[in-house]
Amino acid sequence: MKYVLVSGGVISGVGKGIIASSAGLLLKTMGLKVSSIKIDPYLNVDAGTMNPREHGEVYVLDDGGEVDLDLGNYERYLNITLTRENNITLGKIYSKVIEQERRGDYLGKTVQVVPHITGCIEEWIERVARVPVDDTAEEPDVCIIELGGTVGDIEGMPFVEALAELRRNLPRDDFMQIHVSYIPVVHGEQKTKPTQMAAKAVRSAGLIPDLIACRCEKPLEQATIDKIARFCQVPNPHVLAVRDMPSTYQVPILLSEQNLVPLMTTTLQLDRLPISPALQQSGAHTWETWRALTLGLQHLHETVEIVLVGKYLEQPDSYLSVTKSLEHAAMRCRRKLVIKYVDAEHLEPATLATNAAAFYKARHDLSTARGILIPGGFGGRGTEGMIAAANWAREKKVPYLGICLGMQVAVIEFARSVCGVPLPQASSAEFDSDDEDRVIVSMPEHHPGKLGGTMRLGLRATVWQPDTEWSKLRALYGLQSGSVNERHRHRYEVNPAYIERLQGKGLEFIGKDETGVRMEVVELREHPWFVGVQFHPEYLSRVLEPSKPYLGFIAAAAGMLGSVLGGGGEEGRVNGHGRGHGLVNGDKMAY
Ligand code: GLN
Repeated sequence: MKYVLVSGGVISGVGKGIIASSAGLLLKTMGLKVSSIKIDPYLNVDAGTMNPREHGEVYVLDDGGEVDLDLGNYERYLNITLTRENNITLGKIYSKVIEQERRGDYLGKTVQVVPHITGCIEEWIERVARVPVDDTAEEPDVCIIELGGTVGDIEGMPFVEALAELRRNLPRDDFMQIHVSYIPVVHGEQKTKPTQMAAKAVRSAGLIPDLIACRCEKPLEQATIDKIARFCQVPNPHVLAVRDMPSTYQVPILLSEQNLVPLMTTTLQLDRLPISPALQQSGAHTWETWRALTLGLQHLHETVEIVLVGKYLEQPDSYLSVTKSLEHAAMRCRRKLVIKYVDAEHLEPATLATNAAAFYKARHDLSTARGILIPGGFGGRGTEGMIAAANWAREKKVPYLGICLGMQVAVIEFARSVCGVPLPQASSAEFDSDDEDRVIVSMPEHHPGKLGGTMRLGLRATVWQPDTEWSKLRALYGLQSGSVNERHRHRYEVNPAYIERLQGKGLEFIGKDETGVRMEVVELREHPWFVGVQFHPEYLSRVLEPSKPYLGFIAAAAGMLGSVLGGGGEEGRVNGHGRGHGLVNGDKMAY
């Protein structure tokens, strides 16, 4: 097992995850099997209870793990399937060590950060790195470890110490480190001092970077490179200049032009690994496809414009997988993606009274939308605005994609406007009381009185219902398959008592779970594209393999659904394959 540690210095949030996943992609294109581990030095056991307005999206895995959004980068770039264990938090490590201590496993010893916490981290990394993550079902050759935060943060110290130990215990050519730094420009001059200090901090913590990846807006000047090489004690070619690219999908190409492949090959002696010719060939094919898809993206001039009606818009990463899935689909359709974000609350009459300009702006954006997407969310805030958006999309025949909460509001809207279900029934139990007569009701088994890891989570099958061959979504997934697997994260569902009434008026429940009582997919027949899904297809969208609900939606918004429907439908993972935490109302998540 070879390890590539990607750490950060100076400031966080400069694209460490993209550099790490790009490095992984390059290894993969050589034919290697690549896994990844993301380390988050916070004390939360997982990201499941974190407010998206503060931390960005919660990413969901096949196994139901609610993890840091960076794991999404790896799954999307490397086309792999990770497990909850691939996200190590300090919370997980401490829980494990304390549990062992309570069991008496330490035989009366004093339990300490070094060696017990650090030992637990090392053992965890070495065990999880070996778990197969791709179709080969074989042990990976290389594991990319991304260390969250910056080296020197207090909470990250146990991880830095553990990684330094791991490095010392391994043969020299089994471990390398890429340290990602940032080069600010002051009065037109590229400044290297923060990078020098960052490199010093890493060395004094017992780690030795092999490569320094410098994030910068413009290309690095030769003098800057020379200086960094001298002060960070690496040869000149080991300084990578990662300038801003027109698209993050071009970062792997930039890194490849800066010889990252030969640099990793020599440092880790990768040429000594047995690589199967089949994987080598598929790696080369992936690289060709990647280049063809992403090179020249900035020259696409035909756009596809989407309105996303959300409630966590303050934090740009709240809908990361959703926007990535839209990008994947737009790239496939060769359109430049333009997303307009509309705050759901701005669509509500209350905003007209307090902020008329925002109200009219939001209404204008909605009424000129070519496609309307409502993503997932928790709690009642903003849902009346979402219902208004779903109403517009349905009546004006604007392509609509509702994800999870976005499906639930579409069902509520239909119940109100078409079936005449009165209030308070035409609402969700999540928005007011947990009454059982609502159109959207709670799934009792997912309300055990605590919040962490208790939703209906992870990969589950959706079975296509009889006589739904007309469905555009089904056609995209591939008509021949009886079901499809997608990832879930919800606590509420459509009330089975209302199905007949809704269906009678034309809201077709075309996909249900295996028991037939959980509604998974709604679609309107007489509409260019009106689809609601209870699952989150964005967690399985891949750069080279866009998610079907997103592809259909983007294609419909771009006026090219016909051609996409004509050509596609065979691939995909079809079966056989605020502030504070804001929790109110007992066990409801109401951000
Ligand atoms: N809040 C809704 C539920 O729990 C929707 C969840 C979501 O959008 N992820 O069912």
